[in-house]
Parts: sequence; structure tokens; C-alpha cells
Amino acid sequence: MIQTIRGFRDILPKDTALWQHIEKTASELFENFGFQEIRIPIMEKTELFARSIGEATDIVEKEMYTFPDRKGDKLTLRPEATASVVRSYIQHKMHTSDPVQKLYTIGPMFRRERPQKGRYRQFYQINAEVFGIAAPYIDAQLILILNELFRRLGLSDLKAHVNSLGCPACRPDFQKALLEFLSDKKDELCENCIRRMDKNPLRTLDCKVPKCREALKDAPSTLGHLCSECEEHFGTVQRALKQQNVEFVVDKTLVRGLDYYSRTTFEILTTALGAQSAVAGGGRYDALIKELDGPEMPGIGFAIGLDRLAEIVEQLEKKYTAMPPDLFIIPLGDRATEYGYLWSSALSIAGVKTEMDFSGRSLKSLMKRADKLNAGHVLIAGDKEIDENALVLRDMATREQHDISMDNPVEQIVAILRK
Ligand code: ATP
Ligand code: MG
Repeated sequence: MIQTIRGFRDILPKDTALWQHIEKTASELFENFGFQEIRIPIMEKTELFARSIGEATDIVEKEMYTFPDRKGDKLTLRPEATASVVRSYIQHKMHTSDPVQKLYTIGPMFRRERPQKGRYRQFYQINAEVFGIAAPYIDAQLILILNELFRRLGLSDLKAHVNSLGCPACRPDFQKALLEFLSDKKDELCENCIRRMDKNPLRTLDCKVPKCREALKDAPSTLGHLCSECEEHFGTVQRALKQQNVEFVVDKTLVRGLDYYSRTTFEILTTALGAQSAVAGGGRYDALIKELDGPEMPGIGFAIGLDRLAEIVEQLEKKYTAMPPDLFIIPLGDRATEYGYLWSSALSIAGVKTEMDFSGRSLKSLMKRADKLNAGHVLIAGDKEIDENALVLRDMATREQHDISMDNPVEQIVAILRK
């Protein structure tokens, strides 16, 4: 038996009603805030991710699915969506029609991590990106949108963690302080951190190795080194959040695993999933669009982990199941099967959710099946009923019965079911 690849999984029909509910709740909310959907490829040139996410990050160093295609071009299954959405914004010169673009996308991402609960090698994200707005209000609004989405999904134990990473003006001052701190602690750091110290010292703050975490407990934070503009920007973000009653904590350790962030970064954490506590993360990336050869244009966005979100919503024990059929057709005999087949197609097209039996089993066993399907009505159509021009439509809840004539059964059934 051939099975899925490790870390890849099927989302089965028993779960897709919930997934669709989450996706619909998110897209309706986003559209109210002016977002439009964009669909982007799942594969891109490796260079796009290496340049945007950063060479010295876990994602680029260890987690990407990268391989040459038949011509030798280096391709990568996307580990995240922001780089692709930015590429698309630049490639299609979206800024020339309107620099402000609010885009969202939903789809699979690929990272070769150790699979466990809440962590898969193919996982799904709901992404939202805003280009062309530098104002701190949009930072607060994105966190508000996440908060409102989770509220609509019935979640309560979530907390927003926010931080500011500063900008190119205040970064050098911070990096200097961090490097000084790191050189003192060099003996206590893992090899990876020592290697990354020169390339990209900020990444050491994101290291998951316990001894590094311990050593870096008192490391300098970006918050202590913000320039006055960044300070003011972050102040406004916090004020706007408070005014809208969005609960948050300022978390100076939140640096996030991608290089392109500047100023506001945030994560939404939960206690419901054990070790995998982040349900969503995001931040501002004011230098990224220019970095990828686009115009100088600010950007900010977030990604929600759909797999994790579905797991939490499911824990609420709310049932999201597919709607049962409105009608189950029970044909008894060959002629009845032929008619029943035509009626069932016509009814489905007319908007009545219809199922029909093709097994030829007895009335009794098919009534049992109708119960199991939780069908609203059954249509009993034996050859005898056809000859007598009186099919029987039965309401499964009330047991009420209607005679349906052979003239225009589809119209009659539609009329009764619509009542
Ligand atoms: P983590 O710290 O859990 O590895 P991350 O910081 O790498 O998360 P992001 O790049 O911020 O994750 O992606 C945003 C969201 O996508 C995360 O908050 C999480 O909910 C989800 N996510 C990330 N990686 C995975 C994965 N391998 N499996 C399932 N969900 C994931
Ligand atoms: Mg990760």
C-alpha cells in the first residue's frame, strides 16, 4: 500500500467542513477590511526565498524543499507566501495603478521540519499583506483583524505578543550592543549561533537550543535601541490596540525567523496546543519590496497557521459537518432506477441536495440508509408506484407523505421542499 510522505497528510472529508468554515470566516472578514484574494504559484525560483527570508535563517538553511528541474534551474516549494506576493506586486507593477494593495491568499506551504502535532511538512496558511501604508494604524489594524477572526471562531485563550525590531537607522546601534554581548557569551552558544554571529547576529535571538536561550536571557533588546521615529511608531501601534481593547503584551524576545522584518512584529500565541503555541505571526517589512527590485514601498502582513487553528477550533467540540441530503431517492426496479437517475440529476441542478441509491437493495434496507444519511425526505419510486402514477415523497422527520404524479415530479418535489 502506498502511503503519504512523512509530514504530509490528507485533510479528510470529516474535517473539511471545519476548514471551509474557517476559510470563509477569514475571507469575509478580510474583504470587509478591503482585502482582495490573490493566488500565487506553490513553486518559485529558489533565489526569491534565499534573498527575502535570508540566507542565515532556519528556513533557508535547513527547511526548504529545493531541487533542480530537468534543465537545472533551482526551484523551491514555497515555505511561506510573503515573498511570492511581493514578487507578484513587483512583477505586475501593481503600484503603478495603486500603490496601496491589500491582498490575501490561502494555501499550502512546505518546510522540512520534524513532524509532530501541529507541525507538518506540508501545512496551510492564511496570509494577508498590505503594501503602500507606513502608518502604524495599519499595524494595529492587522492585529485587530486577527483578534476579531479568532473571536468569530469562538477562541478566547489567545494572546498577541508584539515587539518592534527598529529600522535601518537604529539597527546598527543595536547590532553593536548585541555583538558585544555575544562575544562575551561565545563559549555558551551553539555552533550555529557562533557561525551566524557575524553573518546575522539577530538570528541568535531566535535560536531554539536551550543553552543558547539561557545564555541570551539578558541579551540587549531592539526596544532599548529604537530611534525616535521607531519609538513613536511603536507607541502609536500600542495606543491604537488599547483603544480597540485588543489584549497584547510587549515581548522584547520576539524577533521571528525571517530576516525581512522591521519595526512591528507580532505573534498570536495559544496555550491549547502544547509546544506549538504560535497560531499566527507577522510583521512589517518596509525594506523588502525595494530589496526584491521593486519600488521603495512599505509593507506589512501576517500568516495564520490553518492546521493549528483548525485543531484549536475542533477542541471547542463544535460540530462542523456537511449538510445532509434534502432528498434520498429509493428506486425499486430497473425502470424506476432509470427515472430516478434522471430526476436526481435534475433535482441537484435545481438546487435540491439529492442522493440516490443504485444498489437495488430492499425498501427496508434503503430506509435504513436514508436514516443513516440523515436525509430530509425520501422518494419511494417502485415500478408499481410508477404504473399507478403515484410516487411517494415522505418527510423523514414528520412522517408526512405526499403523492407525486409522473407528469412533472421534479417541479412538484422542488415546490414541496421549498415550502
Ligand atoms: P514555529 O515557531 O511554530 O516554527 P514559525 O515562526 O516558523 O512557527 P511562521 O513562519 O511565522 O511560523 O508562520 C506562521 C504560522 O504558520 C505559525 O504561527 C504557525 O501557526 C504556522 N506554521 C509554521 N510552520 C508550521 C508547520 N511546520 N506546521 C504547521 N503549521 C506551521
Ligand atoms: Mg518554524
